[in-house]
Amino acid sequence: MSRTKTKNPGMKKLFLYLILLVMLFAAGCDGATASPNPPPEPGQEDQDVLRVHYIDVGQGDATFIEFPNGQTMLIDAGDTGYGNTVAKYIQDSGHTSLDYIVATHPHADHIGGMDTVLDAIEVGDIYMPKAVAATRTYENLLDKIAAKGLKIKTARVGVNILADSGLSADILAPNAEEYSDLNNYSAVVMITYEDVKLLFMGDAEMLSENELSGDIRADVIKVGHHGSDYSSGQSFVDRVKARYAVISVGEGNSHGHPAPDVIKRWEDAGSVIYRTDLNGTIVISSAGADITVSYEKGSADSTGEAALGPNPPVAETAAVWVLNTGTKKIHYPDCRSVPQIKEGNRAESGKTVAELEAEGFDACGICKPHD
Ligand SMILES: [Zn+2]
Ligand SMILES: [Zn+2]
Repeated sequence: MSRTKTKNPGMKKLFLYLILLVMLFAAGCDGATASPNPPPEPGQEDQDVLRVHYIDVGQGDATFIEFPNGQTMLIDAGDTGYGNTVAKYIQDSGHTSLDYIVATHPHADHIGGMDTVLDAIEVGDIYMPKAVAATRTYENLLDKIAAKGLKIKTARVGVNILADSGLSADILAPNAEEYSDLNNYSAVVMITYEDVKLLFMGDAEMLSENELSGDIRADVIKVGHHGSDYSSGQSFVDRVKARYAVISVGEGNSHGHPAPDVIKRWEDAGSVIYRTDLNGTIVISSAGADITVSYEKGSADSTGEAALGPNPPVAETAAVWVLNTGTKKIHYPDCRSVPQIKEGNRAESGKTVAELEAEGFDACGICKPHD
């Protein structure tokens, strides 16, 4: 899948095409930018910006949302052992309270860290589906909720969590009272801010996907069930038409998530894929029209093929250079000297040539990379 890791004679043409696109979109229409940069420092946040943090919690889900009206939401809190990571992330973002928590369903990789979060952070409303699990983790959470004097609000289709000017958060599922699989109880949330829609699937599987009614198109989807083959059915993928698909998944997990078929389905539909196992914590921001993606590590290159799909994500792959950290050279990925780079000296960067030169790198004399 990784185009920049193999010699590819089409790369130069692709780069020229992407550079052209960057120029065409530079006027500020519905463009998108991505950079392997950490999320903005606390206090830097602009007003009127929706910011969604897909926190890297290994094999599990935890999404922290800063709404443009100043309110906050947490959808899931990762597995037991990640509660501190999640609480600290929220605190480091400058928040001491959460207005809303959604515990999508009672599996440990979603609610395991939640009791720790509830201890560390003051919480307003907590939404959970009417699903019961006879597990210690689930009972611990219920005990904690009771001890904090919180009352659980039922997550089910039709529930509106938040409605403000141009901004809303609605629950689209579960649509039924009973399911044989806990995953299908997952609270599915749609957040709308002006022209931008973000869909959060929890671990909902195809049964639940097929029960979702109405227009479920979304610019960004948190892919269901860590990208497993039980979710992201073809008809659902076709209905959502996401530009960005975020998969929250642990590196080397024992479940084989994400499934290659699922990756292919989203890519074929034109989605650019980000994965917490490859990209670390992923932050999506929007002031209501354009979407900006930033992430901790890796390149956007799990998304390479999709870059030429129906919605070309302009700046995604336009400037992915291959670096030789030994000789401090910058190369185009298809430079003939790239295959000779020693494995340990090879790196990739989405920075500009100018930024890399400022860090002490030099442009290769053969392929002559430039901004
Ligand atoms: Zn899960
Ligand atoms: Zn689950």
